[in-house]
Amino acid sequence: MKIYNTLSKKKEEFVPIEEGKVRMYVCGPTVYNLIHIGNARPMIVFDTVRRYMEHKGFEVNYVSNFTDVDDKIIKKAVEEGVDAAVVSKRYIEECKKDMAAMNVKPATVHPLATEEIGGMLDMIEELIKKGYAYKAEDGTVYFRTRNFKEYGKLSHKNLDDLQGGNRILLVSGAEQKEDGLDFVLWKPKKEGEPSWESPWCDGRPGWHIECSVMSKRYLGDEIDIHAGGEDLIFPHHENEIAQSEAANGKTFARYWMHNAFLNIDNRKMSKSAGNFFTVRDISEKYDLQILRFFMLSAHYRSPLNFSAELMEAAKNGYERIVTSVENLNYLLENMASGVSQKAEMSVEEQKLLEEAKGFAVKFDEAMDDDFNTADAIAAIFELVKFVNTHAGEGSSEAFLASLKEEILELTDICGLIAEKNAELLDADIEELIAERQAARKAKNFARADEIRNQLLEKGILLEDTREGVKWKRV
Ligand code: AMP
Ligand code: ZN
Repeated sequence: MKIYNTLSKKKEEFVPIEEGKVRMYVCGPTVYNLIHIGNARPMIVFDTVRRYMEHKGFEVNYVSNFTDVDDKIIKKAVEEGVDAAVVSKRYIEECKKDMAAMNVKPATVHPLATEEIGGMLDMIEELIKKGYAYKAEDGTVYFRTRNFKEYGKLSHKNLDDLQGGNRILLVSGAEQKEDGLDFVLWKPKKEGEPSWESPWCDGRPGWHIECSVMSKRYLGDEIDIHAGGEDLIFPHHENEIAQSEAANGKTFARYWMHNAFLNIDNRKMSKSAGNFFTVRDISEKYDLQILRFFMLSAHYRSPLNFSAELMEAAKNGYERIVTSVENLNYLLENMASGVSQKAEMSVEEQKLLEEAKGFAVKFDEAMDDDFNTADAIAAIFELVKFVNTHAGEGSSEAFLASLKEEILELTDICGLIAEKNAELLDADIEELIAERQAARKAKNFARADEIRNQLLEKGILLEDTREGVKWKRV
């Protein structure tokens, strides 16, 4: 499996740190509003990377944070006259709903920056101890960028080019940094802002330190993949590398993956220009499976243009797959009701099935080549065409069932639900389980039982264990 690594600007063979396991960190959204369709791109793309790796047999520890302390969140809270936590909690919940509707699996852990302050204080202290950070007079702690000799290795920037733009602020005395390249690790609080005590001043963390710390806590000092949108390469990811490698003395992440941007009608998405859509806006017109299909129809490193026509094309494409599965189901049901009774595969069908397996091989080849989902979806289309040509009233049950299984396996790797209404999403199941737990807590046992039975009807078996509720598909 090859991955394009922003660090080397090359496709490299993927070799995990620990055999059979993948440690992956994806920078999550800042939660001050409903997520927009640009934010949905990394969510869908890297969820698909995760699903493909799981299909290949890797156990993926997938961590994706929510940045829940930030200027934009504070601004919104002030406008509404509420606590910043009210705003961030609300939009985390809304984001999770959108993720579920896009069939993005919940991360193994979704850490919140505000719950990881202790780790941030520890890392900053370590950086000061090692001479990589210093406190300015007003209590701000800065990273001493020039001490980290490899600074610029991810964004392929030259330190002296970077210095130019920053000099003006230093000369004017607007900043108390030793050097224009230094960046904030900890900043003093302003009136009315959320803040935490620290050895330097009451204040809050800089954005970059959050991810270095959350990644370390849940995945360790060294991870396999760190990912996000391409706007994060500089300065966010460059700074994360500097902090983590300076503090831990180890290579932070082996592979850096970045998705290109999504534009609308060939222009940069912008609220003020009026070309801006939230995922929720799109859900009013389309099933979000179609948004997911649309996102995967391009390679993640190519810019993607969003337009009404392209969404309609995505709708047609997705429906072609769904219709093919519906046809197979129709044929299988007819068989069950005795219209046609061929259970065993004929020799000719066996040959056809071998041929059909070739599309799965093509799919894997495309995904092995830096997750080329555009070609992978093309392979699914070829399979659908093949199925539409060769499956019919005279087919055997085994043949039809195998073809259906192959379509569902490939679409499932893409996180696309090709069999409508038949399957509950993992996220829906988790949500119902949470509702059942709440009902039990409130002693509403009738509702709790109702949910258990509702899930059972859909083939989901719940098991109450000491570690909590476990579920499986039966
Ligand atoms: P933010 O909340 O701005 O930190 O963004 C969360 C994630 O969405 C980051 O990985 C960004 O790079 C990504 N992102 C933001 N806007 C776009 C866009 N228009 N296209 C693709 N990715 C985006
Ligand atoms: Zn980050």
